[in-house]
Amino acid sequence: MIVKNGKLYEHCDVALVACMKHHLTIDQVIELRTELQRQLIRLEQSMRVTEKALQTVELDQTAVGRLSRIDSLQNQSLSKGLREREVVRLSQLREAISRIEKETFGLCIACGGEIPYERLFVVPEAPLCGECPS
Ligand SMILES: [Zn+2]
Repeated sequence: MIVKNGKLYEHCDVALVACMKHHLTIDQVIELRTELQRQLIRLEQSMRVTEKALQTVELDQTAVGRLSRIDSLQNQSLSKGLREREVVRLSQLREAISRIEKETFGLCIACGGEIPYERLFVVPEAPLCGECPS
């Protein structure tokens, strides 16, 4: 339990407090962490759907008829592309959450500078300050 600026934070851990050592307030860190966790759950759900789609397509490989085979192949490449993007995003979200635990959340992984809150608000998993090249 932490008291900050006269406000009481009941479910706060040390990592959260460490994140506000720099430019972020505790409310902002809580809000961003909640958002990251929400997006992670949603992504994991959508990945299960993608996984199922890929499995279905593999079974369809034995489908008769040329058109359905072409269809299957197209669906498979769509699903594969989607899965690749989801895997990248999953690691970005997990890394951002682990940066909260490692007390470096909100700091650019390249230059160590502060990532503006406005940027984190739009992309909570952003690892860079916006001035460093990705
Ligand atoms: Zn930077």
